[in-house]
Amino acid sequence: MEREMANRMIQKLLVANRGEIARRIFRTCRRLGIETVAVFSDADAQMPFVQEADEAFRLGPAPSAESYLRVDRILKAAAVTGADAIHPGYGFLAENAAFAEAVAGAGLIFVGPRPDAISAMGSKKEAKARVASAGVPVVPGYDGSDQDPAVLEAEAKRIGFPVLLKASAGGGGKGMKRVDKAEALSEAIASAKREALGAFGDDVLLIEKYIEKPRHIEVQIFGDETGKVVHLFERECSIQRRHQKIIEEAPSPALNDAQRQALGAAAVKVGEAISYTGAGTVEFIFDQNGEFYFLEVNTRLQVEHPVTEAITGLDLVEEQLRVAEGKALRFDTADLGIDGAAIEARLYAEDPAQGFLPQSGPLVEFAVPADGVGLRFDSGVETGVDVGIHYDPMLAKVVAHGRDRSEAILRLRRALRSMTVLGLPTNKAFLLRILDDEAFREGALHTHFIDERFGDSLAEAPRPERRWRAAWIAALLSHQERAEQLPISGIGTGFRNNAHTLQRARYVFGEAELELRYQRRWRSEALLFDVRRGDGSLALVRLVSEAPLEAPGGFGRCFVLELDDHRFEAKAVRVGEQFFVAVDGEEFSFAEMPRFVDPQSALPPGGYAAPMPGKVVKVSVKAGEQVDAGQTLIIMEAMKMEHAVTAHEAGTVTELRVAEGDQVEADALLVVIAGKD
Ligand code: ADP
Repeated sequence: MEREMANRMIQKLLVANRGEIARRIFRTCRRLGIETVAVFSDADAQMPFVQEADEAFRLGPAPSAESYLRVDRILKAAAVTGADAIHPGYGFLAENAAFAEAVAGAGLIFVGPRPDAISAMGSKKEAKARVASAGVPVVPGYDGSDQDPAVLEAEAKRIGFPVLLKASAGGGGKGMKRVDKAEALSEAIASAKREALGAFGDDVLLIEKYIEKPRHIEVQIFGDETGKVVHLFERECSIQRRHQKIIEEAPSPALNDAQRQALGAAAVKVGEAISYTGAGTVEFIFDQNGEFYFLEVNTRLQVEHPVTEAITGLDLVEEQLRVAEGKALRFDTADLGIDGAAIEARLYAEDPAQGFLPQSGPLVEFAVPADGVGLRFDSGVETGVDVGIHYDPMLAKVVAHGRDRSEAILRLRRALRSMTVLGLPTNKAFLLRILDDEAFREGALHTHFIDERFGDSLAEAPRPERRWRAAWIAALLSHQERAEQLPISGIGTGFRNNAHTLQRARYVFGEAELELRYQRRWRSEALLFDVRRGDGSLALVRLVSEAPLEAPGGFGRCFVLELDDHRFEAKAVRVGEQFFVAVDGEEFSFAEMPRFVDPQSALPPGGYAAPMPGKVVKVSVKAGEQVDAGQTLIIMEAMKMEHAVTAHEAGTVTELRVAEGDQVEADALLVVIAGKD
């Protein structure tokens, strides 16, 4: 025994995965003194997880089928580097029994359950049957082998509507169809079979009673080779979009102690029924009456495992490695208490306003706060990384741990607000809306929560005041950038020939345009700006301090600013015409409109143009008239505000292009003044 265990020591671990989970596993390995090997596709060659590993091996081109799913290449990588164990992470080959077998066949340790446990749980039908015979409640339904559509129809009617058709080989929320009435059945069965065959190569269907507004609660289990199975409490994962979890927490706010015990015991029974080894998750759904039913077993480490680590104090990867080495579990559930509460939010590159459409592009800035008490950031990215289209668009997991659920929520909220993610749309603001939702705070969760609470308002209502602030921060950034390019510092830019008029900048936020008027105050040591608000009043902006911001391909600054005495920090980056601004927990992306639409419309010398589209309400001068510097020439009205166009210098009106009542475009020539010389 001693000898065998010594042979199974893991000294070098290859992670057959990428991104945050590879980094997370490497972290544990470094602590344990285990050497690490990364494998990567061409798309990931520059990613942090590759740099952080002790060694790395290129698998192939970007598509998963040519890289992360290539069993032969992964085994080659292990052979070349001399790795003695392979951790599959989650996704890719993590629940592939043939891969687990191939790893063992190559004489390597697979960090996961035995292949037969993986395949038994890979079929929903087989899993359900085995679990039911172990005495664990399963959703009432039909999982027979007679797949004749007439039989399926009769079974659906017996179960009672609504029912859920599921592909036995399905996964990842795919291949499910809800049917509400008998008339819709035969068509639904036919199409579910077609889809299942197309997607999973197998058209076996299961029918289940459709549980209305269920909670998704899962139990973390661990088993070892002695046959011991324990549970590490539950995680509530009811906050889902597109059937995928985005906020997970432990413990579930819905369970009392008796329910927690019953659920844990059921999960252990499931594990025992399949002699489970290593880390696994038994998923259940809870109906409105608190009855729970087995859903499935995930035979791997879950994305959301950090919330369990937070409340138990264990490192689940370390425990996985120990079990894989053949060591016995060193804890019982009774030894583990639940320490407070933990919540995880998954930060995705996706646009909630477009139905959570994944987004790709360069990360112009990615920063997490350094002062994170009770916080954990697991991410696969850093500033400068290109978020590609080939893999899951999850950027990071943010995990907060507190003495209780409300403290964990507050910490998570602050963590998200103090992170900066610039360059592409993310679900950060959406996650914050969920955390601030009243029903969420009360723990009244179910799997349709997002649809029900936010279905009609996935896109956030624009907040003009916030955009205005982002816009003047962009203008300030441009000012500093121009100042940096000037040979003599201290000379204001863009103010030289019209010191008496407000500067103008125009920005486009999606559909909306915003025009900004601002002016530097000259009689001051400090950098002070007057900025016109939407209501016409002037705000005083003061630049307290600034520091350069690493912004690949652009110009970036981290500012400390004061707006009418309110001091705060802001980050701003310009890449081409695009501005990215992070301020007060929010991120903005917008473009500057060209100052001159085309060279033809450039002003003639002495010309004065309309500062914005609007109406000429007063013409105060006549052609041929002598004017003094500062004299009002024309008054315009736009957005219910009047703007005076005043002479920069004394001269003669040589051209008057407009009359009172005229409607003019922005930049339209209004009047020309010939100077004295
Ligand atoms: P997959 O393997 O595709 O993830 P699951 O069986 O785990 O499929 O179910 C995924 C999700 O679908 C669950 O989290 C739950 O939200 C919903 N679901 C599954 N079965 C039912 C059911 N019988 N009634 C209502 N919702 C269900």
